[in-house]
This record gives sequence, structure tokens and C-alpha cells, in this order.
Amino acid sequence: MPTHEIAESGIERLPMWEMYGGFWAATRWIIYALALVVVITFVYGIWQRIRAYRMGRPAPGALDNIGARIMELLRYGIAQLRVVREAFPGIFHLFLFWGFVVLFIGTALTVLDEDFYRLITGNKFIHGGFYVVFSFMLDLFGLLALVGLGMALVRRYVMKPDRLDNQQTDASLITWIFVILLTGFLTEGARIGVVMGHKAAGYEASSFVGYGLALLFKGGAAEVLHKLFWSVHVLASMVFIAVLPFNKGLHIFSTLANIFTRSLGPKAFTPSIPNMMERMEAGEEVEMGYKKIEDLTWREILQTDACTRCGRCQDQCPAYNTGKHLSPKKFVQSVKDHWLARWAQQRDKNVEVNQGEGEAAAAEVGAGGPYLLAAEAACYGCEPGDASVESVVLWDCTNCMACVNICPVFVEHVPLINQMRRELAMEFDDSEKACKDFFKNMDTNANPWGMNPSDKMTWTAELGVPTVFDNPDYEYLYWVGCMGGYDPRAIKIGKAFVKILQAAGVNFAVLGEMELCCGDSIRRLGNEASFQALVTMFKTTVQECEMDPTFAGKKVVTTCPHGFNTLKHEYPEFGFKWEVVHHTELLDQLLKSGKIKLKGGNGHTAVLHDSCFLARYNDIIDEPRDVLKAAGYKMVEVPRSGDLTFCCGGGGGRAWLEEHYEPEKGINRINFNRTDELMDAGADTIIAACPLCMMMFDEATKRTECEDKMSCIRLLDIAEAVAEKLDVPVDNQGSDGQA
Ligand code: SF4
Ligand code: SF4
Repeated sequence: MPTHEIAESGIERLPMWEMYGGFWAATRWIIYALALVVVITFVYGIWQRIRAYRMGRPAPGALDNIGARIMELLRYGIAQLRVVREAFPGIFHLFLFWGFVVLFIGTALTVLDEDFYRLITGNKFIHGGFYVVFSFMLDLFGLLALVGLGMALVRRYVMKPDRLDNQQTDASLITWIFVILLTGFLTEGARIGVVMGHKAAGYEASSFVGYGLALLFKGGAAEVLHKLFWSVHVLASMVFIAVLPFNKGLHIFSTLANIFTRSLGPKAFTPSIPNMMERMEAGEEVEMGYKKIEDLTWREILQTDACTRCGRCQDQCPAYNTGKHLSPKKFVQSVKDHWLARWAQQRDKNVEVNQGEGEAAAAEVGAGGPYLLAAEAACYGCEPGDASVESVVLWDCTNCMACVNICPVFVEHVPLINQMRRELAMEFDDSEKACKDFFKNMDTNANPWGMNPSDKMTWTAELGVPTVFDNPDYEYLYWVGCMGGYDPRAIKIGKAFVKILQAAGVNFAVLGEMELCCGDSIRRLGNEASFQALVTMFKTTVQECEMDPTFAGKKVVTTCPHGFNTLKHEYPEFGFKWEVVHHTELLDQLLKSGKIKLKGGNGHTAVLHDSCFLARYNDIIDEPRDVLKAAGYKMVEVPRSGDLTFCCGGGGGRAWLEEHYEPEKGINRINFNRTDELMDAGADTIIAACPLCMMMFDEATKRTECEDKMSCIRLLDIAEAVAEKLDVPVDNQGSDGQA
């Protein structure tokens, strides 16, 4: 039974309860034996999981830079900074997580005190004032965990948001945690009930929850109930720990491991296929992308296991929100299901799995059906559709990175999707007609429309912009881009930007006919071979012109966020050493340094559309707002702004593909959805900072129902918004024909 030997001197010598008081003498040893079984089961479960992760390839760099990784773990694993971005689920998860951390520390200290320190020294270190604080903290955090659990229950089973799918594993975990917390408090209440009436029992008020419950337990019944609750609590806790690696509770460890090993480089970065061109030219067989689970790295497999099915990614996904097939949450879960099915078969050796079978099965994908991983899964007895990813799901993605950005445990959907697209595009030729036309145009003329490359720089020449041959000592290389070179609307943006550069006296030049497509779209559509061919061709041309093909020490500026991102983060893999800025950043610098002067007064109100490739991929959020404020705009914001911006629908190569549109079935176009939101913001001007966004919005405003709205709203690029306030005349007409 619990005892309470109270020293006459009071709190300083108040001992803790007897852990095994009132039980058989053998209880302690039974508990030790059970604990050993628990530890062995737990370690076995974790080891099995690690073996399953090791089905994947090595993950270079996943364990480098340990200092930075520890900081990430503290920020996002321990402080849960991403989890709390959403108030209600964030707070209850924080209560649960920290409740369990403190209860775990409390239990560990109790075991240390009772089963080690006391056995060795005959004394206990948890007593006196420490005991009072210790008891209070355990009750406080236990109560917080219980409140968190209640909130989770309400959310999952009463509020039932669309993004949550309730599975049996969720209910089991919640029930198990509830039993542990409840029996913990009941044990404490019964223990205090035994000593109620003792003159020192008042000190137990620090265990404020147990103290309140003690009113329910008195006399001999309290002693019996204490034993009962204690036994249930200890056994439930042991079973909980033993089975953690085999149920949803595993996410406690897989999420922390995923955060620790997450990519620290450029966001949502899909690595290149190393030395692809050389290996292909040498006749080597080159793996194009991911067609079977063994193609993933162990870290990519781990991240599917870290997914908690919280559905935040699905909530943010423009494809899902407009009724398309893609749900990033289901995508990750499909890959995970497939992995687990394959792992079970390998482990149990029920089916002889070898590379040849896998490849033969995967090859059927191209021949017959829409499935990528499904064909292989079916080969090993899995249900197609249950453990598979359909190609249509992969093509729906705009690479907007909303999923990666919001995921509380740092799952990176985009690189996985793009790796699978590579397989579809290059190995299985599974891409729609528009995509194939796009590939052909890129291969023949290095631009999306197959237009004459010599037409690309006509307008820059007309404005007297020097090429790098005319002005080899340029400070900025203006990368005009395909949109900026051929698209009439984007050319207006380019002209406005050039006027600003000229007015500011910036020393700049263009590449002239040497400039090829940056390759962003073709790479994101999975055609890595054409992308690498473009980069190689560009490097060779630069070399042939006796220029430094690394561009070391040179600065590049683009008006297109896609070109900006690709040149900045992806070209360095091919030896480029330039510094790349987006025109939004340069405009901000020029304004802040006083190199451009604007006319005062502006009666317009603007709403800014944050490009995904600026705001999410590159954290460029404040700069465009500062520029617009400097240009005199009154700003209004839409809810989906900053890093939570909603895609225009044109990223990931989707600008060149047909989009599924069946409004009667609730399937909308992404650009329609976004344009409607911007138009309803209460501004008279929509500002974009991307020619692809501009193209998508221009198209959206051509809908009959929007024509009226468009007659009273302006659609400008940020460069045009600045240019119209310059103290020099600019040939800028904007989308609505208004200057
Ligand atoms: S990148 Fe965007 S479109 Fe693709 S899955 Fe993620 S949220 Fe959806
Ligand atoms: S991928 Fe991330 S955001 Fe999406 S459901 Fe899984 S844990 Fe949640």
C-alpha cells in the first residue's frame, strides 16, 4: 500500500509514496520481467521498420550537417512550430505531445528513483519540495494531455473535417491514451485517498487532479482500488510502449526522424539524373525515374511513413480544391501502402521478388494501363488501386509546393511526383498529346511554341538593349525567358522592366540568340533528357563563344519566377556559378537605394498574387509589397497570400496542358478559382510578378461572366506597376489597355 512517512519537520522531508507498497514482494520482479519483454518487443519493432526503410537506395546528405539538423529537430519536432500554424489542431497536438513528454520524463525519474537510486542508496531523491513541484507538473501536463485528447476526439468525430479519414488505428490510439491517462489519475486519487486525513496529506494538494479525485476514494476501498488502478495503468502503459512501432503511435518516432533527415537544400528540389547525357551517349542503361519502390531513397520511404494523414496538404492543394484526381495526402499514403505490401512480401519470402520481375511488371504500365506502381503491386498479389498511384494523379500536380510548405512533418511530395513523372514521360511515353507537342517544340526550337529562335530578341534589339557581345562588362544579365521573348503580353512586361533598368542606369545585357529556354517546364513534366540536353547545348554555345560557361561572378535577373528558380537552384548542379535575382528583388533594391524615382500619388488599390515560385520556393514575400507601397498603392490582401498563396494553375508544366473542366461536376479550373478570389478582393488592380501567372489570369478573365468585372479591374505585372509611376514615359498598356 502507499505509505506516507511524514517527518515532523514537514515538507522538506516529505517522502514519496511507496511504489510497490502493499503488493506482493514479487511484484517488483514481475514488473522487471514484463519491462524486459516490452523493451525487446519495442526494439524489435523499430529494427523491423528500419529494415523496411532500407529497401530504398542510399540517401546522400541525409545525415550531414548534424548541428543544423538538431536545430531543425528542436524547432519543428520539439517546439512543433509547423504544427501550431493551425490553431485548433496545433494546440491539441501540442498539449498531447508535451503532456506525454513530461509524463514520460516523470515516469523515467520515478523508475530511476525507485528501482535504481533507492535500491543502491536506500534513499529516494524525489521528496520534499522537489516532490511537491514534481507532483504539480505531472498533474498539470497530464491534464493538458487529457484536454488535448478531448479536443482531438471532438475534431475527429464531431467536427469531421473533409481532410481527415477515420481509421481503426486512430480510434485505438486515442482510446489507449485515454485509458493510460485516466488510470494514471485514478491511481493517484486512490493513493491520496488512502492517506487522506493524515496531517501531511495537505501536501498532496500539489497533485491537484489526484487530490480532487481522492474525495471519491476512502478507507479500505481506496487501498483495493489503488491496486486495481495501478495494475491496469502499468499494464496498459507497457502494452502501449510495446506496440508503438506496430501502429499509428510509430509516428512519434518517424516524424522526428523525418524532420531530422529532411532536405536542407533548395525547397522541393528534385535532383538531376547524374551524368545522364554522357551515360546515354556511352550506351549505358540509365534509370529514368521511379517506377518501383526500390527506386526511392530510404529517406523518401521514411517520409511516407512519417505522414500522419492530417490532410493539411490536401486542404492546400489547388488540384484537389478544384476537383481533380490528385490528393497529396492520398498520394503519399498510396506510396506507403505499396511499400508496406512489398516489404511484407520480401520479409515473409512468400513471393520471390527480384529485379527482373519488378521491371517486367512495371513495363506493363506503358503497354496497358494508367497505373504506375499498381502494375507492379498486382504482380505480387496486391490489389491494384489500393496500393498504386495512377498517372493521371501525377499529371494533375502544378508543383506549387503548397503541400510541402504546409506539411507539419516535412513530407516532400513534389520531388517524388516529379521522379515518377520522369518515368512516365521518358520510359512509358505516358503523357498527353499537348505534352508531347510541347516536348517536340522544345526539342526542335527550344521554346514551347516551336517558334523561330531568332525572333526571341527582336523587341530587346528595338529598345536598344545590348547583348553580352556588345557589353561584356555587364553587371546584370537579363534572362528574357520564353514567355518574355515570344508572348505578346509578357513582352509588354519585359519592355516595362527594360525601361526601368534604363531609367535607373543599370548596366545590363541580354544573351541574344544564345539564350535558350531555361527548361523549367520540360523538367517538371518529367522530360529530364530534354532538360539536360538544353543545359548542355547552352553551355556548349557559351563555350564556343569563348565566354566563361560557369558565369562565375555574374548576376542574372529574370522577370519569370520559374526561370529564376531553375537558374538559381538547379543550374548550379551543372556547374553554373552565377547569382540570380528576380526582378521583384531588383526593383525593391533600386527603389530603396534611390536609383529609381517615382511620381507621387496613386489612387489605386492593389491585390498582389504571390507566385508559388517566389513566395514558397524562395521566401520572396515582403519585397513585392514594399515595391507596390513605394509606387503608392493601397494594398489589400486575400486570405490565400504569402506562403499560403493559391497557385495560378500554370506551374509544373501545367500551363502547356489541357486542364480537366466540368463545372457541373464541381471540377473547376485552378486559374478560374484564383482569379475569382483576386477579383473579389476589393482592389481595382491585380498585380502579378510572373508572366505565366499573367497568362493564366488573362485566360481566366476571358470567361463571359468575367468580362464585366475586367472592364473595371486592371491586371498588371509589378514591373508595369512601377513603370507607370516612373518619371519617364513608358510604353505600357497592361491587360485592360489602360496605362
Ligand atoms: S505541389 Fe501543389 S498541386 Fe502538387 S500535390 Fe502539392 S499542393 Fe497539390
Ligand atoms: S503529407 Fe504531411 S500534410 Fe499531408 S497528410 Fe501527411 S503529414 Fe499531413
